[in-house]
Order: sequence, then C-alpha cells, then structure tokens
Amino acid sequence: MAQHTPMMKQYLDIKAQYQDAFLFFRLGDFYEMFYEDAEKAARELEITLTGRGQGEDRIPMCGVPHHSANQYMTRLIEKGYKIAICDQVEDPKLAKGVVKREVVKLLTPGTIMDGSMLQEKENNYLCSVSQFEDGSFGVARSDLTTGENAVTLVSDIQEVIQEVAASGSKELVISSDFNAVILAQVQASLKLTISYEDELELSSTYDTICARLEQQKLKKTFSRLLNYLMKTQKRSLDHLQAVDYYSADSYLKIDLHSKRNLELTETLREKKKQGSLLSILDDTVTAMGGRLLKKWVERPLVNQIEIEERLTNVDIFLSHFFEREELRDQLRHVYDLERLAGRISYGSVNARELVQLKRSLQRMPAIISQLKQMDPHFQGKWFSSEYSYEELIDLLERSILDDPPISVKDGGMIRDGFNEELDTYRDASVNGKKWIAALERKEREETGIKSLKIGYNKVFGYYIEVTRANIANLPEGRYERKQTLTNAERYVTPELKEKEAIILEAEEKMEQLEYDLFVSIREQVKEYVHDLQQLAHTLSEIDVLAGFAAVSDHHHYVKPSFSAERTIAVKAGRHPVVETMINKGDYVANDVHMNDGRSMLLITGPNMAGKSTYMRQLALISVMAQTGCFVPASEAKLPIFDQVFTRIGAADDLASGQSTFMVEMLETKYALTKATQNSLILLDEIGRGTSTYDGMALAQAIIEFIHDKVKAKTLFSTHYHELTSLENDLFDLKNVHVSAIEEDGKVVFLHKVIDGQADRSYGIYVAELAELPKQVTDRAEQLLEQFEETAVKTRTKQEPVSEDILQLSLFAEDEPPIKEKPQLSKQHEKHIIEKLKQTDVLNLTPIAAIQLINEWQQRLR
Ligand code: ADP
Repeated sequence: MAQHTPMMKQYLDIKAQYQDAFLFFRLGDFYEMFYEDAEKAARELEITLTGRGQGEDRIPMCGVPHHSANQYMTRLIEKGYKIAICDQVEDPKLAKGVVKREVVKLLTPGTIMDGSMLQEKENNYLCSVSQFEDGSFGVARSDLTTGENAVTLVSDIQEVIQEVAASGSKELVISSDFNAVILAQVQASLKLTISYEDELELSSTYDTICARLEQQKLKKTFSRLLNYLMKTQKRSLDHLQAVDYYSADSYLKIDLHSKRNLELTETLREKKKQGSLLSILDDTVTAMGGRLLKKWVERPLVNQIEIEERLTNVDIFLSHFFEREELRDQLRHVYDLERLAGRISYGSVNARELVQLKRSLQRMPAIISQLKQMDPHFQGKWFSSEYSYEELIDLLERSILDDPPISVKDGGMIRDGFNEELDTYRDASVNGKKWIAALERKEREETGIKSLKIGYNKVFGYYIEVTRANIANLPEGRYERKQTLTNAERYVTPELKEKEAIILEAEEKMEQLEYDLFVSIREQVKEYVHDLQQLAHTLSEIDVLAGFAAVSDHHHYVKPSFSAERTIAVKAGRHPVVETMINKGDYVANDVHMNDGRSMLLITGPNMAGKSTYMRQLALISVMAQTGCFVPASEAKLPIFDQVFTRIGAADDLASGQSTFMVEMLETKYALTKATQNSLILLDEIGRGTSTYDGMALAQAIIEFIHDKVKAKTLFSTHYHELTSLENDLFDLKNVHVSAIEEDGKVVFLHKVIDGQADRSYGIYVAELAELPKQVTDRAEQLLEQFEETAVKTRTKQEPVSEDILQLSLFAEDEPPIKEKPQLSKQHEKHIIEKLKQTDVLNLTPIAAIQLINEWQQRLR
C-alpha cells in the first residue's frame, strides 16, 4: 500500500476524532469527503462518487461546493446524521506545507443554529438523560437557538421516554456506559441520534445559570448536556438562560401513545400538524408564539389557579375584539426575538436582522397601549415598570441603514454620521468618483469623442475606453494603452491611477471599518440579550392567549369551569378537529354527564357511529381546558385531571404499525397501574385483538378492575354487546350508545349518544356502505339470521353451557348466561346506604333532597 500524502494523513488524523460524523474537509472551493464517508454521502445525497489516486490505492471521494454546502448539510442533519466542518484555518498563500485545518464546528440534529435548517414554530431541543444509582433518571433539555434550558427527575424509563418525546428532541446525549437495555427501549419508541458525553464537571462560567439547581442529580444531568454543547459549538454560550427545574407532576401527564392517539400535535398516520389539535388551536401570529403554544399543548396544567389565570386572560381578549385584532396586527410585525437574541450572542446575527430587531421594538408602545385598553392591569402584569428599549432603538436607528445587505463583510450597513472616520473614507470615495465623472466629461470635450467612457473592472481598475472607430481622433501619447479589445482600446493615465488608488483604499478601509463597527454594535446589543429573551417570552404568551381568544371566537368555544367533586357536565360538546372536517353545521353535538354513580360509561353502537369520536372529544375538551383555552361546547364543567390514558384495540391500530395484541396489553397495563381516581381513561375496543371469548373476558376484567380499584373516569367503547349487562352489577358503570336508525333498509348514523345499550351492531350495513360485493353482504345477512336462530334455540332449550364458557360468563355466578330482567345488585344497595349515611341533611336544600330521593328510587326500581 502506498504512503498517504501529508494531506490525507491530516484528514485521517482529524477523522479519527470524529468517527460518528461526516467529516466535511475543506479543499479549495469544495468540502470533500473520503472513504466510507464518501460512499455513504454519495448514497444519501445522490451525488457522484469519484476517487483520488489509482488502482488499489484509489480512495473513494465525493464533494460539494462550499457555497452550496448548506443544503447538503441540511439533508444529512434531517436524516439524523452529524457533520464535523473542517476548515482551513490559515491563509493557503502563507502556509508552509499542508494548510492547517481544524474542525470549527460540529453540526448535530439537536444543536443546529442555522435558520434554514430549523422549523419556525418548533423548538429544537437537545436532550440528555442520566441514570442514577437509586434507579431514578434525570432528563435535561436545551434549545440552543432560544437559550431555554430545563431539567427534571423521573422515576422510570417510561417517564424518560415521555419527557424526551414531549420535547420533540431529535438527539439524546448519554454517558458512554449507559445501560444498553434501557437505551434499546428508548430507541424502540423514538427515533433519535445518540451522542455521548461523560464530562460532568461544569466550568464556573455557567454557575449563574445553574444557580437554581440545588440537587446534585439535577446539576449532573444538566452538566452533561452543557458540556456536550460546548464541545460541539466551540464558543461561549452567553445567551443560555437560567435552567428551569420542573416536576412532571406540575403537568397533566399524557403518555406518548395517548398523545399520538389523541393527535395532539400531529396526526397518527401522516405525522402532520394539519389535522391535529395543535393545528386548530394555532392562531398565533409570531413564530415564538407558535413554539410556546406547542409546549402548552404538550404539557397542559394541573394547577387550577394557573389554568384559571390563562382562561381569565383569554376571556378579556375575547371580549375586546377590536383591541385584540389591533394587538395581533402589531404582533405580526414582531420578528422572532427569541431566536434573534440567540444569534446576537452567538455572533451570527447580521445587520438586516438588527433592523428587524429595531422594527420589532418600535411596535412595543402600540402593543402596550392596546393591552392597557383591554385591561389596566395588563401592562404591570407583563412588563416591568422600567421597561424601555428606547436606548437600544436609538443605537440601531443611528447606526444601521434601513435596508442593509445580508453579508456583513461587504459594507453598506452603517449610516452616514455614525462614525467620523467612516464618513471621511466615504467622502474620499464619493469625491473620487465625482472626480472620475468630471474627468470623463472633460476628456470627451477635449478629444471630441462623444462615446469615450470611463469604466471599472476588478482586474484593471479604472480605465478610459475609446472605440476602435475613434482611435484615429486621439492625440498621440494622450493616454497609456492598457488593454486591447475587438472593438475598443482601453487606456489609463497617471492621474486616473492615482485617484483609483485613493478610491480603492478608501473602499477597502470602509469595508473593514464597517465590519468592525458592526461587531461593536453587535456587542452593545448583546448587553440586552436577557431583556430581549424576557420580552420574547412575554410576547409569545400574549400571542398564544390572544390566539386562543381568536380561535374561541371563531369556533364558538365556551369558558370551562372546574368541579372539585369530579363531576363532568359537558353540554353539546364537539370534537374540535372533526367538526372542522365535515360540512359546517353537520356535526352532532353530544353531552357527557359523569359523576358519582356514573363514572364509567360503556359505549356501544354500530361501527362508524361515532364512538371513538365521542371519547376523544371528551379527552380533547379536557386537554384544551387545562391548556387554558376555551372549549367546543355550550357549557362545560370538568374535573382537573392528573393523567389521561387512551388505549386503542389492536384491530383499530393497524396503521401505526403497532398492531400486536401484546402492545395493546402493555399499554393497558400502563393505564391500569398508573391511573388514579383523578385520571381520565379512554379504552377503545380493548380486547379486540384476540379471540372473542378471550377478548370479552379481558374487557370485562379490565372494566371491573377500573371500577373497583382505580375509580378513574372511564369511557369504554366495545362491540361486545354482552358487556352491557355489567350495568346491573357495577354501580358506577352506565351504558350509553351511539344511535343509528334504519331507513328504507339502510342504516343512518345519528351520531347521537344516548343512555342505554345499542340493540345491534350493524356490521353488515357498514360492509354495504363500504361497497363489499353484494354476494358477500347477502350471504352475511343469511348467516346472521341462522346464527340468531341458533342462539334463540339454545336459550329456549337451556342447554348446559360448557365449562370454559361458564368460567368466562359475563353474568353474576348465580345467573344463567342470558340477560333477562336487570337486577339490582348488592352494590347498589350498599352504595345508597353509604350515601344516606354521608348526607348532611341539615345543609340540604329541599330541591336537592328531592333529587337525591328520586335518584335512589330510580336505582331501586
Ligand atoms: P366508531 O368509533 O363508532 O367506529 P368514529 O368515532 O370513528 O366511529 O366515527 C366515524 C365517523 O363518523 C367520523 O370519522 C366522523 O366523520 C363521523 N362522526 C363521528 N361522530 C360524529 C358527530 N358527532 N357528528 C358528525 N359526524 C360524526
């Protein structure tokens, strides 16, 4: 094997330090990749694989031009890869031997800063997880673009997965000896780029941002993340904000599957925002508002005071239509201050963005004035009394032109009068150019050549151009010949060259000086970064709340109220997403009434009748209420839930690729073990993924367990009609069904949920709707009749029931497995006696007493 060239040696040395990243190696105007990197990049980016050298020693190679490298990098990052950018760090002209090269930055999915690689309305979090000896875990997250940091402690791996999933992070930082089994579990649920960091000591520079973290575990978790950030960014990270400690208990817990299932932020099948709850609620007008809304939807609150504060604000925004819309108009002109602040500290902001900053700040007086008009307390609530960005606006107004270029290296950014030295150079340049224009006029006059002109190019500088036809009219020796073109000659004069030197020197100096001035302005603006982050946070909150008001106005939502007695009383509730997908007015609103004695609803009804929609409707209304938004109903009284669980029967869940019955059971276990009486459980067709008796038996056992042990508010939809008889035995369970009627032999779904059980399941009608071949549906009708006849015969004959069917019997032990008259169970009596004992007669109004007696009487009948 031939010796490597010095350059390849340099490449291999650097590559050895960045094994898990593509090494973009700068060679002239290209970034080149070699060996496996080249082969993989050629495949992923669909670019040509070439080679360096000959025969056996040929090294696979591919490259991208440096000026368009960004788009290739974006594609690799989106695919979850990391990229080490290796640049030339000395001037090739001055280099002795191989030009010195270094990795100047490591791009990874969780640490990108470049606007073109980011989603406007989404945070780009990097997460880290640390496992501790006691089995607990720390989870930290940081968004480098906004400087936001947070950390929490959780007790099990499921919660780790939920926290990482809630952050939407694409990259996870762990220790190099992280438990492989646990990592595999995380990776089975989430697609993540894994990175390693073992350093847990933190530089004292960051003491202040960690000041709030008292526990060592929290500090360690965050330090891992921060050390990784420093290694990848290779610069100071002044814009990082104080780390927020939060407890997962301060939010409504919705596990990963339930979130996906309820389509809170993206749809289940296509993973798109459109069609999710978030898309309905998002009427924010700023990117930062959009990001905050997503966070709120991911983490609804559980503290009633906090929820009600949001709702009160939404109410005020709602009742001031004109002021709100004027406010939102102003907000529309506010740029993404949060990310702008990030780029200011990071040193990547340009002059155009500083103008955006100025224009945003200039909106503030109008914004505050609208807020004050809506509520006099709004100003004090959101803005500190010493709020003033006058100084900053003034600095930017004096220093930067209104429409500067994107590049900060080519001048044209700084206003006249801001810096005397710059003005002098500008004068020299302007005067020089004026002198040249005068020279052109003078030479035309003196030579009589009207077409004589003075031009400029980068190679020859300024020149006098005379067309070939006019050369004869030029006095001999007037100019010095410089260049011959086909149709013209170009000349210079010593005077012209002298002026040229002055102009070019001034321009070069101007560019450098402008850049230096820009950097110093940027440094001054940096002083305001923390104020700007605070302002960004305030404005995003206002944007989300005003957006909630706008959405509530548009869709006629109402303000929910909360009940300490865990009562649900939703009148004319609607599914916020489904109602927008069908023709206006076609949505059939439904009530949900759940309280003591009615905390589980068993929902039956034909397929496609609207069972799932009804269940999800309640969950979404609850999530919306706890997020602080109004809800789609005419009235809504709700408990504050601590957790929401949603399980879908395996047969319904095929599209998500997780159709196994085992997954369904694992998820159900999770709900049954984690839920409390303050939780909401939705079980949709549970037990469907196995044989009928198996499924039915499990369904019943699950219902009984929730009823007796968990006592959570539960909606359970099923196609096992046999389960409806459970109403007789389980005090808290009530049957409801989604109605359908037959009209001219066709089934019509009314989508109306009413008390009582459905009479049949209409499966064959649905098959007809789906236009299954008529032969099939006719035959099915025939078979159904036969089955029903056999069943009737069996019942009348009272044949002995086989042992295992008896074991699975859905009825009380002393009952035959046929539903006859509903019987009052012992539980009902016990419950009523219990209630009677608890009733505080002296504090009961006559009406309430009559209602109670009536309820008990109903139950005893
Ligand atoms: P099921 O769970 O009973 O099979 P779904 O809840 O999936 O039925 O509802 C089937 C379809 O019926 C929904 O996609 C929706 O278009 C429509 N639908 C459901 N509920 C309603 C309603 N309350 N009003 C109008 N249309 C509804």
